Amino acid sequence: MVGGSFKDTALLADRALALLKAYDLPAEPQYYALLYAYVAERDPLLNEAIDSIIRERGRLSCEEVASLHRVFLGDASDLTAVDGSPAKLEAIFEMIATAALSDASDTAIRLAMARDAINDPDAHYSTADLVNRLVAASRIIDQRKRRIEMELAEARAELDLLQTSLDHVRHESLRDELTTLASRKHFDDALSAAIMEAAATETPLSLLFTDIDNFKSFNDRYGHQTGDHVLRLVALAVKQNVRGQDTACRYGGEEFAIILPRTPITQATIIGEAIREAVMGREIRQRSTGERLRRVTISIGIAGFRPGDTMQTIIERADTCLYGAKSGGRNLVVVEVDPLRRHSV
Ligand code: GH3
Ligand code: MG
Ligand code: MG
Repeated sequence: MVGGSFKDTALLADRALALLKAYDLPAEPQYYALLYAYVAERDPLLNEAIDSIIRERGRLSCEEVASLHRVFLGDASDLTAVDGSPAKLEAIFEMIATAALSDASDTAIRLAMARDAINDPDAHYSTADLVNRLVAASRIIDQRKRRIEMELAEARAELDLLQTSLDHVRHESLRDELTTLASRKHFDDALSAAIMEAAATETPLSLLFTDIDNFKSFNDRYGHQTGDHVLRLVALAVKQNVRGQDTACRYGGEEFAIILPRTPITQATIIGEAIREAVMGREIRQRSTGERLRRVTISIGIAGFRPGDTMQTIIERADTCLYGAKSGGRNLVVVEVDPLRRHSV
């Protein structure tokens, strides 16, 4: 921008002075010259260097201005330490390129341009000037890289935190707090998956429903807290009699459901009996007084998967069996009639 009008250049001069004032820098020629070059946008590299310093630290120090002045506006002849022989320069470029290439593609472009400039007989750059610019460029890239790394680390930490709380919420919604069995929500998902598996692989699947007998009167007599304790004991008896592949859930208030994949109804009956006996055999005492309480019993209904079953149909049949156990006198396991066995008899 050589030879601009007074009006244009005075405008830039005002802006350069305003920046000197804003960063509390001395209004001496070299400071003014550097900021003038900045507002006039004479060298994108210089603007990038100043912008990145201001972004990082919010200010520009006298030392930084002095060093930027030396690199961007200084007289190249004062850099006597640089030997301008092409072979040495080539080696310096290679060194900077190796360090910077993997970090930013624009560094590679700049380096390539610089290399072209060296070989261009019409280029007006001095070799020292080029090296200075490359050093400044690699410094900017380095700063950028560090900032990106920091931002990435922060984002990763935030993501980890979100993931942890998400896992926690998901885990909580799938588990019943009182009994630590699976929740009703988990039951729905697990039964749907088990039905699909049974249908696809033609393997047996049993569904077992339990309900505590006369629990209302137990609560009325001993209190709700003791009732909760009984719920935990029944849940424990269930847990101790199922395997890893099974899903035991708290289906409702005092009702539990157990999904038994790859388990024929005969095997499920044995498991149901074991749970019923475990509950019945449990002696329960009042914590505060040590008083022995009324025995608790449960009723169980069991249904086996039939081709064409939906969640609703198999649940209905298990429920009907449970109702049968209640009307049959309670403390019973009732199993639906296996349609395949009925045909074979
Ligand atoms: P039945 O043998 O026919 O099952 O009789 P029941 O009294 O157990 O049946 P009903 O469904 O009439 O009553 C269920 C009772 O279970 C009602 C309530 O007092 C009790 N209950 C349900 N959820 C909880 C719970 O979370 N804690 C406690 N302590 N009791 C519960
Ligand atoms: Mg009930
Ligand atoms: Mg009940």
